[in-house]
Amino acid sequence: MANISDYKIATLGSHTALQILKGAKDEGFETICICQKDKKRPYESYGVADQIIEIDAFKDFFKIEQQLIDQNAIIIPHGSFVAYLGHEKVSQIKAMHYGTKGILEWESDRSKEREWLLDADIKLPKIFDNPEDIDRPVIIKFHGALGGKGYFIANTPEEFHSKYKKYEGTEGHEEFVIQEYIVGVPVYTHYFYSRLTGELEIMGFDKRYESNADSIGRVAAKDQVDVGIETTYTITGNVPIVLRESLLPQAFEMGDRVVEASQKLADGGLFGPFCLEGIIDPMLNYYVFEISARIVAGTNPYVHGSPYTWLRYDEPMSTGRRLARDIKMAIEQNQIEKVLG
Ligand code: AMP
Ligand code: AMP
Repeated sequence: MANISDYKIATLGSHTALQILKGAKDEGFETICICQKDKKRPYESYGVADQIIEIDAFKDFFKIEQQLIDQNAIIIPHGSFVAYLGHEKVSQIKAMHYGTKGILEWESDRSKEREWLLDADIKLPKIFDNPEDIDRPVIIKFHGALGGKGYFIANTPEEFHSKYKKYEGTEGHEEFVIQEYIVGVPVYTHYFYSRLTGELEIMGFDKRYESNADSIGRVAAKDQVDVGIETTYTITGNVPIVLRESLLPQAFEMGDRVVEASQKLADGGLFGPFCLEGIIDPMLNYYVFEISARIVAGTNPYVHGSPYTWLRYDEPMSTGRRLARDIKMAIEQNQIEKVLG
């Protein structure tokens, strides 16, 4: 029988690396953290990495890739891979990679993502192709934006043009999407689908903690206007939430449909951790504005498990650990190809 000691688990030092590496160690794997020189402190301090490989910048990942191949390391992709390497570069990774690379292309292209979610019968906010058609509150999202930086809200074509002026001609602001702004509460649902067990699990939920969207209510509306404070969505952290229990059946069904629809998009389909990110309105409609086809940072509060993983596992089960368990099961059943892509 193949043994997990023949493999190592590796990831980039950022985003969800702490729980991925901790989870891998809990499952018995040796771990490697690829760190930017000045960012290695947490990975040393928390003792999650058996080995640290230093690089100057994440884009230098390919310079050390051979070291990973030589050590039979399996790479766990997370938000920093696509953010700093781009999905095209990620698809060129030659080392073993957990998850279907082909799906990343669908996730990173907003119109492809939309096609996928519509096919899965998921409710989506309306998109305005032309600013002149704006007839309700909308949110403008720049494609290059890292973590919601620079998004803005408008109500009318005039307001759009006056706010867009300050971005016009500046780098990273050429491409954007104009999306209906849904008034409700943000809910991000963390899923895990295993091709080995054929089961979809809900690992937990979170909402984001965004600057300054989450603090603007601390200032009176009059002062917000007088001082000219504009809402921004820069991600700074995540807050755990527990969903109203009667909404759970809907959340499971949405996840099932997304996995099913993904099987038409890329060989192997979507598996492992993924997340539907959206807003629930007062009529309890769950509008999804984004899918992440990989582990999301909203799972970070649950290093020791979430209320939902506790119901199922009776042992600490983070999403990072669940990933490692999937890999371990695949190795022990001689089906490693079922978790690689
Ligand atoms: P970082 O390595 O922190 O720059 O993050 C890489 C990517 O993941 C960025 O695009 C961030 O927007 C996203 N990200 C990082 N941390 C979080 C978080 N706590 N919640 C949601 N998204 C995040
Ligand atoms: P995103 O980068 O697409 O994940 O969006 C960042 C943040 O903007 C979210 O966490 C929400 O707070 C907010 N947001 C994005 N899209 C919408 C929407 N269509 N309606 C309301 N709020 C939204």
